[in-house]
Amino acid sequence: MLRGKTALVTGSTSGIGLGIAQALAAEGCAIMLNGFGDTAAIERLRRDLVNRHEVKVVYNGADLSRPEQVRELVADAAARLGPVDVLVNNAGIQHVAPIEQFPEAKWDAIIAINLSAAFHAIKAALPAMRNRGWGRIVNIASAHGLVASEDKAAYVAAKHGLVGLTKVAALEAASSFVTCNAICPGWVLTPLVEKQIADRAAANKTSVEYEQRELLREKQKLLAFTTPEQIGAMVVFLCGEAASTMTGAAWSVDGGWVAQ
Ligand code: NAD
Repeated sequence: MLRGKTALVTGSTSGIGLGIAQALAAEGCAIMLNGFGDTAAIERLRRDLVNRHEVKVVYNGADLSRPEQVRELVADAAARLGPVDVLVNNAGIQHVAPIEQFPEAKWDAIIAINLSAAFHAIKAALPAMRNRGWGRIVNIASAHGLVASEDKAAYVAAKHGLVGLTKVAALEAASSFVTCNAICPGWVLTPLVEKQIADRAAANKTSVEYEQRELLREKQKLLAFTTPEQIGAMVVFLCGEAASTMTGAAWSVDGGWVAQ
């Protein structure tokens, strides 16, 4: 079903986005990669995807904090691969601090990258999806799109906003058979979370292994990290026939985090 379709995955040079790009490439999608990182390492990732899955893979390093670059990214994907059929808004950053000490610039950056970029990308990609009467939009939100934690004001606000945007996009696009869903992961061991674990180990004078166990114990009944591959498989499912009437929902993949 996905063979020959074009997928744009934002923030796909690392972590969850890379897992999603790999899963969609394995289904036969042409992939537009996006994200920051070492140029040679990104080129290796790109070539590896091409060799393993025999699909077209291109890269655009658009900075998603800049609305005009988000629009150019969608246009570039369409120009080089064909109009975007599958849009995965995944790029995201984190900053951890109490509100009184939260830097304004960090608030602005998190809202821009984790929330506004998804709006600009959906706005740019939706017309071509409507024209073809098919499209899949998947927003990578978080357990923090449904519940809060201390010291994550911008992230929790952005992710709650992303779940709201998901619902509105789903309602507006439904008449064109375009679906829009959010995935809400719990802990996934990626550079974004590894930094939080390392910071905690340094602050508490403990080990990384100890803080990994504590992180899980604080939030999830099921004491295991979700993998990027599992989130990739969930995206593939949401793009498939079985999910063609699933829209406007926030799907938890979180070890029981928000069930409590
Ligand atoms: P990560 O740090 O491994 O990857 C983030 C990606 O976004 C990278 O490719 C990075 O280059 C890219 N990126 C960052 N700023 C960008 C910008 N301005 N423009 C373009 N690309 C940019 O993090 P991850 O854990 O894989 O996170 C991916 C998404 O999953 C994020 O939205 C995050 O909030 C969400 N998420 C992560 C977890 C987790 O436990 N790791 C849990 C729930 C939700």
